Amino acid sequence: KSLKTIKEGQAEICLKTDKVFYNPVQEFNRDLSIAVLSVFTEEFIAEKLALKQKKTQNVNSNINNDNNQIPVTILEALSATGLRSIRYAKEVPNISKIIANDLSKDAVNTIQENIIHNNVQNIIETSHDDACMLMYKHKHPMERFTVIDLDPYGCPSIFLDSAVQSVQDGGLLLVTATDMAVLAGNSPETCYSKYGAISLKTKCCHEMALRILLQCIESHANRYGRYTVPMLSISADFYIRVFVKVYSGAIHCKKTTSKLSMVYQCVGCDNITLQPLGGFKDNPTERNPGQMKAYLPTGPAVGERCTNCNQKHHLGGPIWSAPIHDEVFVSKVLTHVQEHPDLFGTAKRLDGVLSMVREELMDAPLYYILDKMFGRVHCETMPMLVMRLEADPVASHILSQDTKTVIDLSERADANPVSRRDGR
Ligand code: SAM
Repeated sequence: KSLKTIKEGQAEICLKTDKVFYNPVQEFNRDLSIAVLSVFTEEFIAEKLALKQKKTQNVNSNINNDNNQIPVTILEALSATGLRSIRYAKEVPNISKIIANDLSKDAVNTIQENIIHNNVQNIIETSHDDACMLMYKHKHPMERFTVIDLDPYGCPSIFLDSAVQSVQDGGLLLVTATDMAVLAGNSPETCYSKYGAISLKTKCCHEMALRILLQCIESHANRYGRYTVPMLSISADFYIRVFVKVYSGAIHCKKTTSKLSMVYQCVGCDNITLQPLGGFKDNPTERNPGQMKAYLPTGPAVGERCTNCNQKHHLGGPIWSAPIHDEVFVSKVLTHVQEHPDLFGTAKRLDGVLSMVREELMDAPLYYILDKMFGRVHCETMPMLVMRLEADPVASHILSQDTKTVIDLSERADANPVSRRDGR
């Protein structure tokens, strides 16, 4: 007998025990993941097919462009009720197989019942194992998953070593972290021991949290000659969620230092200075015109005073200081949501968040908030909208012609992907 029945998307979940974890607030997280996976799987299959076609072109020109040639497999490593896996099976096209795993026997029994209840036995298999052990069993390149989803309680770092080894080349790793106090600067020492980076208390702490998690995933990947490319990074409610592609390539791992920075935060005026850990510049030679050379950049020394107010700095990081989203990919996900609003219970929020993400400056890490900035120079705070018009002549031109866009812009500012409504 069910304690309760939950409907979300196309799935219906029966819960017989309250020992199995279910959080309705995470509907947005699951909707977003479905939108991302729908776009990702289509691109993944197209890329692999094109590659296959290129390889076999000389041998056999008669290629069958059947999607079934490219299996897409998903591991939900910490599945609880199975709701997420069942939604993936029913709502994401082109999935060949999903493994829904959990360490708790109660959870696995619940998943099994829900698989049958939703009639997705042909796609989902259950597994009762420690997530790390299961992923290590799949680290051989022939055994890897196309997608691994990590949605743990709190910190995901203990799962990263096995996860980065078990995602296919060009596959997607989805990671949630809910230990926001640690990531957002309340416990910098704990943050260092868990994520290998020091968090700082700043107004842009949520973006900093995302960048700490991204550098942590990259550092795990680099140990195995692999590297990551962030596709989308979101801070919402009480958690952060990142979507990164994983690739193999030792030469690319050498470029990682140029994607990381230490963060100097002035204790007086909150000014933030980024100190890249490394650089990579063109170094063409006759034999190798595309050659790149690594170098160590210089920056503020730890004891150096702030050039604005002559105060000392707090030192945080390292953080991921390269882009945290892929603009083209985000646009495709946004279009998918806008074209299929009926598929998502949280379509409106998805639209707002993804629109804001798309408007972010991709190559400008972190940000300041207006009232603090104006306060420092003892000026009255300029309204956000006026600031944006001043800063962006193109937007200013559009807005002067179309007052409706002004309203759209300010509405979207409330959508808050990584708290960018505060301005930068
Ligand atoms: N992904 C789920 C969703 O969207 O509803 C929620 C997952 S819940 C936050 C975390 C789950 O991880 C719990 O069911 C717990 O039993 C399981 N878990 C904790 N440690 C684990 C481990 N080492 N291996 C596998 N599962 C684990």
